[in-house]
Amino acid sequence: MEISNQNIIKKRPSKRSVDPYIPNNFLHEREVQSDGVVKRVNTIFLTNRECPFKCTMCDLWRHTLDETTPEGAIPQQIRYALSRLPEAEVIKLYNSGNFFDGKAIPKSDYKEIADLISDAEHVVVENHPALTGDSILEFKEMLHGTFEIAMGLETVHPVAMPKLNKQITKELFAESVDILRKWNISSRAFILLNPPYITEISENRKWSLESVKFAFDAGVSACTIIPTRPGNGIMDDLLMSGEYVLPKLHELETVFDSALNLKIGRVFCDTWDLQIFSECEKCFVYREERLTEMNLTQKFAPPIRCSCMMDQ
Ligand code: SF4
Ligand SMILES: [Zn+2]
Repeated sequence: MEISNQNIIKKRPSKRSVDPYIPNNFLHEREVQSDGVVKRVNTIFLTNRECPFKCTMCDLWRHTLDETTPEGAIPQQIRYALSRLPEAEVIKLYNSGNFFDGKAIPKSDYKEIADLISDAEHVVVENHPALTGDSILEFKEMLHGTFEIAMGLETVHPVAMPKLNKQITKELFAESVDILRKWNISSRAFILLNPPYITEISENRKWSLESVKFAFDAGVSACTIIPTRPGNGIMDDLLMSGEYVLPKLHELETVFDSALNLKIGRVFCDTWDLQIFSECEKCFVYREERLTEMNLTQKFAPPIRCSCMMDQ
């Protein structure tokens, strides 16, 4: 199947209209920090202009604007969310794209954003490695707490990586982590389980772990393993053609267990909407609870036993 921006966009289902003054979502959770202390985290999913990259597996564009984000909209969204959230030591500003894309987050809003989150001990945003530049330092200087940038490495598989259309290489990722480290900014990596173009179960497990190892070798302080989801148009076609295989919950558990067992840094498992990967209603809730607990403790918990295991 041809992977191009044009083809990826053509296959997309329709986008729903969003309000530039209301965040897409926000939530309160707890997360273990790099010093091992569990802290309260407020995550705000900002609404902003669609990301200029068109990654094959991405469905984040669904909640984005077609036009440049109006000035003042992002601070307004942060005010909206913070007035409804409890206190937290850590703030994550995730924006379905790249914080340092000036059309998504206007530079003129940096100061107001920084003022709104001035109480935060630690701030995390997401950004594409290709957008590692001076704007990052400018924003960092306005913050009172420490700063971290989450970047999608996705996979280091030599065939799948370029076909994700993300326009990154292992070298670019490692270089960005290194630049950030020199600026005293920590980084975390998003790693996919079952990206398209890896179709053998054992290969998928292997390459997720290889990607986690690569990210830690590059210097990230944490990795989050994300099961690749269908539903964005082109991923549904790739599923039909057998070029993408839906990950199963027990495979995610296996990879997460192994990655934690490496003991080289914090590893998280993305637990959002896990139900679609489960094949058993009896044990799903317990499995989800186990993964959530392991995210928090960073320790292996005894696997859930269920009759469905006989089929795996
Ligand atoms: S860079 Fe991130 S937000 Fe942009 S298309 Fe790729 S996965 Fe989606
Ligand atoms: Zn079961």
